Amino acid sequence: MKLDSLPRYRLTALPTPLDETPRLSKELGARILFKRDDLTGFALGGNKIRKLEFLLADALAKNADVLVTGGGAQSNHTRATAAAARKAGLDAFLVLSGERPSESNGNLLLEELLGAEIRFLGGGWRDTDSEIGNAAAELAARGRRPYIVPVGGSSVLGCCSYIIAVGELLEQLDALQVNPDYIVVTTGSCGTHAGILAGLKYHGRKIPVIGITVSRSVAEGTQRITRLVNETAAFLETPLPLEANDIVIREGYVGKGYAQITPEAREAIKRVARSEGIFLDQVYTGKTMAGMIDLLAKGDLAHGATIVFWHTGGTPGLFGHAQDFREM
Ligand SMILES: *Cc1c(COP(=O)(O)O)cnc(C)c1O
Repeated sequence: MKLDSLPRYRLTALPTPLDETPRLSKELGARILFKRDDLTGFALGGNKIRKLEFLLADALAKNADVLVTGGGAQSNHTRATAAAARKAGLDAFLVLSGERPSESNGNLLLEELLGAEIRFLGGGWRDTDSEIGNAAAELAARGRRPYIVPVGGSSVLGCCSYIIAVGELLEQLDALQVNPDYIVVTTGSCGTHAGILAGLKYHGRKIPVIGITVSRSVAEGTQRITRLVNETAAFLETPLPLEANDIVIREGYVGKGYAQITPEAREAIKRVARSEGIFLDQVYTGKTMAGMIDLLAKGDLAHGATIVFWHTGGTPGLFGHAQDFREM
């Protein structure tokens, strides 16, 4: 399959801006450019919108009438999927971890406005992927035509959208005549990190990519990224050969657990808001920024470096976690 002939259902308003952040850069002693994928232009933005253009096109090609996916209680991915479904006249069925909260806000409020069918999985650990599979089977038994969108949209099609996004970034960098020393990105379900690595291979450019994990171990992230890049290469029938040092994931910034605020993330979110008027989120980009600040302080990222910080969105989640900022 050729990248430019992949079926795509347009949701985005691209290119997203590539913004200089002069005050933040001065404070941190590095030139930081933000790739503003918080502004992908549909349903309050974020990286999932890019991925969903290809997932939705695939669902329509397969004649689906309902998208089925899942995630955390304040998942950006499920909100984006529900909105994408509506845009194409489909329904959405979402499985979310935890109990239904007494109040709906943030992404959950938006999902309710979209009229998505929502199933809360309740307490205790449940495997989201298999619960998505169960929900799809139930829908099919009722005569519906479900299409499973994998958690985080992290599939080959999701990666393809980030190969294209890297092409977009490279054009912007070339126009500015900037050659960055690093790209910093959140490593979550790994599709974005894998897609960026695949994109740099695809476009024949070498820029170190530093992932900051917000959930998985380095070993698990490395395994997932390797698999996604290799599957994407096979799908596109293009060699995207990973070298030993290509996958870089830094850990130590998760704190008590996924989606639980850390003091450093809270500080990073305030710092970026107050220096640049840009909002990060608690679950992903705030922790990633906290990690980047720490790596710069330690010299793991070189002082004076030029860094692209890939802002993957998540701002609607701010309103779902307002209690994290009680003690400003
Ligand atoms: C999903 C998400 C990520 C992580 O992207 P993956 O492709 O799942 O690794 C990062 N930031 C935000 C805001 C997200 O919603």
